[in-house]
Amino acid sequence: MIDPFGRHISYLRISVTDRCDFRCVYCMAEEMTFLPKADVLTLEEIDRLGSAFVRLGVKKLRLTGGEPLVRKNVMSLFENLSRHLKTGALEELTLTTNGSQLAEFAAPLAELGVKRVNVSIDTLDPAKFTEITRRGKLDKVLEGAFAAREAGMKVKVNTVALRGVNEQEMDDLVAWCGKQGFDLCLIETMPLGDIDGDRTDQYLPLSLVRSRLAARWTLEESDKRTGGPARYVRVAETGQYLGFITPLTHNFCESCNRVRLTCTGTLFMCLGQEDSADLRAVLRASADDTALDAAIREAISRKPKGHDFIIDRRHNRPALGRHMSVTGG
Ligand code: SAM
Repeated sequence: MIDPFGRHISYLRISVTDRCDFRCVYCMAEEMTFLPKADVLTLEEIDRLGSAFVRLGVKKLRLTGGEPLVRKNVMSLFENLSRHLKTGALEELTLTTNGSQLAEFAAPLAELGVKRVNVSIDTLDPAKFTEITRRGKLDKVLEGAFAAREAGMKVKVNTVALRGVNEQEMDDLVAWCGKQGFDLCLIETMPLGDIDGDRTDQYLPLSLVRSRLAARWTLEESDKRTGGPARYVRVAETGQYLGFITPLTHNFCESCNRVRLTCTGTLFMCLGQEDSADLRAVLRASADDTALDAAIREAISRKPKGHDFIIDRRHNRPALGRHMSVTGG
């Protein structure tokens, strides 16, 4: 699938649930209203949709959420989708997780051919971790990350940079990830969905974080690209990669190879734009996949050139109403 700007669409992220066992302060409000069950795709429907994308040329599937591992029977979905790894149609099946259930699922996931996992860890301070996630336990998440490594998976830690919260911990995170053999990806806060606090308070530009890190670490330019928004350097002292996702301060759209499917079957062609396609209606209208394939192709033909997130400082409004947990981070 090639979009109007010549970009090959080879990467699909699927949010398998909007639910999560954490309530990270930058992501969700304390009291969230989750979607009614009938609106959410069944695991069989997600498999059918994911498989349609693979048939149309998607090479990489990432399951996310919400928290993918809290969805009941989610392993049956991984198992079904892993058949495309066996045929070679799919090159990678992976997930982004908060790690709370990973200790239990790491080995079975690895057995199905999941080779890499992104685990979100914003701080290594247990009390602060519970504060940021409003309910998470750091030791359980670390146990999960270690279990994934033990099972042979490559672990990448995702850390959202938060002003005055984990700002002083960046050196420690680089050192710790280096010691554990984990890559680290720092993320700027994105203005998605209503949360209880003020986003402009949380925003920490990664340009500043990077220049501070460069005072202690040797950051070697790298040509590692994932087709996504991250720009990577190699930390010479640890040998691990360090990524920076800076959607607000840099434009990364020209190499975008991805689209995102929500757990209700809405396809967003761009994380930062509202335009979408309702694939659930097409899916539920017929058991035949002809219309579905056509609807996917039509949606890709509408993939926009780029996006423009703006943190609205006057009104303190999110740039987009939907939460990251709906679109899939
Ligand atoms: N529950 C899983 C997890 O914790 O990784 C997957 C979903 S979560 C929405 C995916 C990633 O998005 C996490 O690394 C999270 O920190 C990040 N995230 C959520 N809201 C964000 C926001 N407003 N700005 C930047 N990153 C955000």
